[in-house]
Amino acid sequence: MGEPRLIANAIMCIFLEAVEEVLGDKGLTVVLKQAGQEQFLGQKPPNDTELGPSLQEYGLIEEAIEQVYGDRGARAILMRIGRANFRRSLEERGKLIGLTGLALNLIPSYEAKLGLFLKNFASAAVKHGNLPVRLEEDEDNFYYIYDDSPAHYRPEKDRPCCFVTVGLLKEAVKWATGKEVNVEEKTCMACGDDVCTFVIPKKA
Ligand SMILES: [Zn+2]
Repeated sequence: MGEPRLIANAIMCIFLEAVEEVLGDKGLTVVLKQAGQEQFLGQKPPNDTELGPSLQEYGLIEEAIEQVYGDRGARAILMRIGRANFRRSLEERGKLIGLTGLALNLIPSYEAKLGLFLKNFASAAVKHGNLPVRLEEDEDNFYYIYDDSPAHYRPEKDRPCCFVTVGLLKEAVKWATGKEVNVEEKTCMACGDDVCTFVIPKKA
């Protein structure tokens, strides 16, 4: 799989803050030890856009949460971490990454608002996070696609496992449109797929 892709310090910093928010500082410590990521114990990366941490480190931490809390329990926890992750990104880096509600408020159609938001959200993730994401669409859905993902560096699964991203996208869409939507991961690199694909329906 080659060298793992590097991501911005801020992506890992905010992820670890979100893990801590949901699991507490003891939970974070247990998870980091389980993941073999002791370098982050008591020492989150700075909240800046320098590259440093890797998608592999991010994936190993997600994997450790599954190991510690069990397959089923972990799913809800990972989604909550994803939601906390978005709220923190908004608070800490929202203005920097262009997440202001102003332009969106002017757009009356739900579909247009959702599409513009997801497009901006993906560009910000590429530009400020070095995350390889892009947006596609067809008549019924938007497809938020990761060309490389933490799941690429996790053990093989028979079902998609990127619940942090599902939670993140659900919270993000709720912020942008005011609606709680269904987000489903249709393909996942942990299942041997080429990309991780998150499906967001155009109709609320
Ligand atoms: Zn995935």
